[in-house]
Amino acid sequence: MTDGQILGIDIGGTKLAVGLATPEGGLLARERRPSGMVDGPDAVIGRVVEMARAVISEAGTGAGEVTRIGIGCGGPLDPWRGVVLNALNNAGWIDIPLTDRLSDALGAPAYLDNDANAAALGEHRFGAGRGTANMVYLTVSTGVGGGVIAGGRLLRGENGNAAELGHLTVDAHGRPCQCGSVGCLEAYASGTNIAARAREALAACDEPSRLRSGPVADLTAADVSAAAEAGDPLAARVWSETTTLLGAGISSMIHAFNPSLVVLGGGVTAAGDLLLGPVRRAAAERTMPWLHEVVRIVPAELGDRAGILGAVAVALDGPRTLAERPTSHVHGRTDA
Ligand SMILES: [Zn+2]
Repeated sequence: MTDGQILGIDIGGTKLAVGLATPEGGLLARERRPSGMVDGPDAVIGRVVEMARAVISEAGTGAGEVTRIGIGCGGPLDPWRGVVLNALNNAGWIDIPLTDRLSDALGAPAYLDNDANAAALGEHRFGAGRGTANMVYLTVSTGVGGGVIAGGRLLRGENGNAAELGHLTVDAHGRPCQCGSVGCLEAYASGTNIAARAREALAACDEPSRLRSGPVADLTAADVSAAAEAGDPLAARVWSETTTLLGAGISSMIHAFNPSLVVLGGGVTAAGDLLLGPVRRAAAERTMPWLHEVVRIVPAELGDRAGILGAVAVALDGPRTLAERPTSHVHGRTDA
């Protein structure tokens, strides 16, 4: 099948993004709206369909020109059946056959993957990872997620949940994580937890800090990095621990996957070299030289196009994904 235009749909906890793109990743039209996840799956799917029709109309796309639909959504989900098992832990989003629903409404085959895998596929196909065969993508945002390209293919694992890189243990006796474990990378390095650790550090001492200048409850990871950059000692300690643990986690990923590239995306990477510099040093100190000498740690390139182009990449990989499902996978699609 020759690909015409591809709809990329990014269903996030706070925002929906829908775009129409060429198979080369050129964006023809796009739209964003608040998700309103609390309204339940029917309302959100209805919103997505309206947005899709709007971008198709805006781009002047004719009937039959949209040949595939790609969807990135919070997991857990089953990429082979196209079913969301429990999206973003929202009540009501349980066992939703998302690809069937959107395919029926919009008239093209649809493919689904989790948002971190989608972003990894997007960076690999259209962004910083173009041309690499072995790549780790890590998003450091509200949470910490990841995707791994191994030998040119997305690593999916036995039931589609490989590369939960935010839940690599960086401290076996560490902070509790929302996944139920302790000491996960996410429990330190997510934007939410950087802010939480700064609040804890402030509560534990009387040390003066510019982080006390506003309401402590409203602190963000960006406040912490800005204060660290301005030389605030308390913020600098929190930031330094963050970059050390991120570097340690990334070193573990390098040891596991031997990539040529580690791509860092997500809102926390807006700190730029203040993050990348110390993360690169911390990873280098911990990584075996023969693994370190072939790898670079670089920022993601797709920026605010990451969600839509990630979903487009999911669509382009979709048929291969369905063909490669593990034979032992108990929920395997029976119609493919
Ligand atoms: Zn965890």
